[in-house]
Amino acid sequence: MADTATLDRKTAGLSLDRFPRTALCHQPTPIEAMPRLSKLLGGPQLFIKRDDCTGLATGGNKTRKLEFLVGEALEAGADMLVTQGAVQSNHVRQTAAAACKVGMKCHVLLERRVPGVDASYEQTGNVLLDNLFGATHEFRPPGLDMNAEAEAVTEKLRAEGHKPYMIPGGGSNPTGALGYVNCAKEIVEHCDSSGDPFDWLVMATGSTGTQAGLVAGFHAMGYNLPVLGVSVRQPHDRQVAAVHGLTQRTLEKLGADPIDVSEIRVDDGYVGEGYGIPASSTLEAIHLTARQEGVLLDPVYSAKGMAGLIGLIRQGFFKTTDKVLFLHTGGATALFAYEDQLIQSLN
Ligand SMILES: *Cc1c(COP(=O)(O)O)cnc(C)c1O
Repeated sequence: MADTATLDRKTAGLSLDRFPRTALCHQPTPIEAMPRLSKLLGGPQLFIKRDDCTGLATGGNKTRKLEFLVGEALEAGADMLVTQGAVQSNHVRQTAAAACKVGMKCHVLLERRVPGVDASYEQTGNVLLDNLFGATHEFRPPGLDMNAEAEAVTEKLRAEGHKPYMIPGGGSNPTGALGYVNCAKEIVEHCDSSGDPFDWLVMATGSTGTQAGLVAGFHAMGYNLPVLGVSVRQPHDRQVAAVHGLTQRTLEKLGADPIDVSEIRVDDGYVGEGYGIPASSTLEAIHLTARQEGVLLDPVYSAKGMAGLIGLIRQGFFKTTDKVLFLHTGGATALFAYEDQLIQSLN
């Protein structure tokens, strides 16, 4: 029998059918237990939602966002997707693949954001796949306003007769965040049908669309599941402000009530030296998750998220009886661009 809370959620008007959308994604993604990692760390009970298995070109979190972004691009009559990211961007790789799937061209701007990398960094991993999907690219030095750069290039392409649709970095705007509103619905449906709720949801946070979509989704459904983002780049206050801003704009798009900033939880203790530079805790998280659960994390995002989860467990942040869901956002394709550091870490 459906309880009142379930009925309330169904009547909360969270149907996403009113938004344009293109099917790109295997979903719902599985939720699996991680009993060996839980035991090694001495509890809480750890689970993993496999958004690394979304299916498009080795998968990842951007595919959910692209369903709504590409849906909008098709509705606008676009023939080309334009986006931007760091050199080893998973978002760029998934966008390039999505463009192929719907028969569009793809042009991308790659920011040389990570210092001290060798020449192969710009050829292997995600870049190899961008090229395989036929995306054209141009590089930019670090520190520019990359969305402004991409807008300028989009205007130039339009003037040349293309019909470009620009997707912001990480696909993080209210349209892209709808993909994670949908993921929030999947998690709620899973918990409702198993009768077994989670106490925490933990994931890496970067361009903010993932966390914002999840928080907006749970808030709009009146569902209480605290979401903790582990920053891969920005300090705490800046990341909280950015996530909160996009959460509000996503709630507006959904026609739901605003949310207080106190609901946005970020830990910035696992960035290390900076974006795209693995810390020792990042490498440890890659090793532990591989050897305990046979799951591949990536050195830029998901392993920093997992390092945060491991660190918080060691600090006693969670109760040992808590059930904690880690969202695997994908990214293992980038492992090959970090070969030297990974080989060293195995010795
Ligand atoms: C982009 C990305 C993230 C961060 O998601 P945002 O929505 O940008 O915050 C996390 N993990 C991986 C593997 C990513 O590619």
